[in-house]
Amino acid sequence: MRMSSLFVQTLREFPSDAEVMSHKLLVRAGYIRKLTNGVYNYLPLMWRVLKKVENIVREEMDKAGAQELLMPFVQPSELWQESGRWDVYGKELMRLKDRHGREMCLGPTHEEVITSIAREGIRSYKQLPVNLYQIQSKFRDEIRPRFGLLRGREFIMKDAYSFDVDEAGLDKSYEIMAEAYRKIFERCGLETKMVQSDSGAIGGSVSHEFMVLVNEEAENNAGENDVFYCTNCGYSANSNHAVSVLPSVQTEGKYFEAKITETPNTHSIEELSQFLNIPSSIICKALIYVIDGKYVMALIRGDKTVEETKLMNVFGGNEIRIARNDEIEEIMQNSGLNAIAGFIGPEGIKGVEIVADETVKELKNFVIGCNQTDKHLVGANWGKDIKLPERIFDIRLVEEGDKCTQCGADLKVTKGIEVGNIFKLGTKYSKAMNATFTDKDGQEKPFIMGCYGIGISRTAAAAVERHHDENGIIWPLAIAPYTVIIVPVSDQDETQMSIAEDMYKKLLADNVEVILDDRSERAGVKLKDADLIGIPYRITVGKTIKDGLVEFKTRATNVVETISPDEAIQRILSL
Ligand code: ATP
Ligand code: MG
Repeated sequence: MRMSSLFVQTLREFPSDAEVMSHKLLVRAGYIRKLTNGVYNYLPLMWRVLKKVENIVREEMDKAGAQELLMPFVQPSELWQESGRWDVYGKELMRLKDRHGREMCLGPTHEEVITSIAREGIRSYKQLPVNLYQIQSKFRDEIRPRFGLLRGREFIMKDAYSFDVDEAGLDKSYEIMAEAYRKIFERCGLETKMVQSDSGAIGGSVSHEFMVLVNEEAENNAGENDVFYCTNCGYSANSNHAVSVLPSVQTEGKYFEAKITETPNTHSIEELSQFLNIPSSIICKALIYVIDGKYVMALIRGDKTVEETKLMNVFGGNEIRIARNDEIEEIMQNSGLNAIAGFIGPEGIKGVEIVADETVKELKNFVIGCNQTDKHLVGANWGKDIKLPERIFDIRLVEEGDKCTQCGADLKVTKGIEVGNIFKLGTKYSKAMNATFTDKDGQEKPFIMGCYGIGISRTAAAAVERHHDENGIIWPLAIAPYTVIIVPVSDQDETQMSIAEDMYKKLLADNVEVILDDRSERAGVKLKDADLIGIPYRITVGKTIKDGLVEFKTRATNVVETISPDEAIQRILSL
């Protein structure tokens, strides 16, 4: 490709609406242009990168025995009614009506469609196992599209679905996918960590995410997930799923009896612990949440934080948020009580489900809200002064300094970008949609399913997030849009131009993906652009050509070597 005809416009400045480096660089280097919020044009350079990621994914999926197909982007609501997701998927699902008034949606994922395909196409256990996948654009009306391709509304995904006769078969399919994923990301030049993750409310199911870990200190960190990992054994998990052992602290107050005590203006745990001069670990915190429109009170030790996904999963919910003050007022009114946030407790409260975190069980002579403003119950004990809730779960957010449940070593946290995930679905969809096969013994059984996603466009952006410097992108070779760029310093210099042309033709003849920067631009502009767009190798043909030498620069290391044109070509061919 000649740079003079390559469709690319690099910008001098970063776009003003971009927060993270991958977004800034992909726009500035001319890879993507925003069409509307969360929707991007993939310009020619980007499309080359995406196709490379896709092809790596395709090759490894095929090697793992999966078969590619392509399902429609638009889906009828009926299938979603069958699975039960039409009413619960929420606003991320982009719903529309056709001219006949039939309800449809833009595919955010394809469990329903694939299950309908299996239901019609698979009759017997003899046809199993099977794993079907596609690579396609998805649409999700994300509440906060941001970070460019990392969280778009329209994005490209590889989604695969496995069908097995039993759990053991699923375990095997799952392990095969995990292995394929390791290879895929490694081939893309991305180091990933496979971490345990939340798998929603479906009991007993398992899921893992593949995380690209990003530098904690980076300003505007693109890692939307907190990943906890053990400093000793292999344990690692998304914060929405992580568990830990707590270091021991004081959980028993020095009170001899339970007493309602004046605690004026102590709206927060901090204010309360200061006022009473006690550690926050002997306070029982009560927080009100709204889960799918229902009120829930969560009790947790005062020095700990509720993990909202864990709490939501107790109820199999889809949406969770902390209650507003006016909602707390409503609860108080309905319970015939009168207290403001900060003084709420479980006793006497009506119309609210109560869940306690495991940490509250061990509290003794503790402090808790008593539904009277400016007062707390001090010196309380479960069973005696206050009822221990029946629902006790781990709804606690793990923190750095907690210990590993497997080996007792320290847990640490880091930020991660989820580029893929694997998920044991079990019979969630096959049962709901009555998708069955005939087993060996003639019995009708629902398929045991797994699903496996990879964000193609997010993976490309994550690669930029991990591999860049102050001058621009540094593409891993396997997914770079071109391998090498030849830059003649002056297009007025005939020798430079003819050597550059000559090298260009030789490389083209060997099917190397090469750019020749044949523009009449200043050398500085051309060299800057080459760095910005991140081509792994740059061959600069300048004044030293009269001694038969060119500059060979490796973008990743910024090492420049002076070698002959032939050697430069050999280096590229030997990659
Ligand atoms: P997230 O938690 O980041 O929203 P998810 O759990 O919704 O992801 P899946 O539904 O399992 O993700 O989708 C599979 C893969 O698709 C993800 O691992 C991710 O790489 C990618 N992906 C999901 N949502 C987006 C998005 N809005 N933009 C780009 N890629 C996405
Ligand atoms: Mg999502």
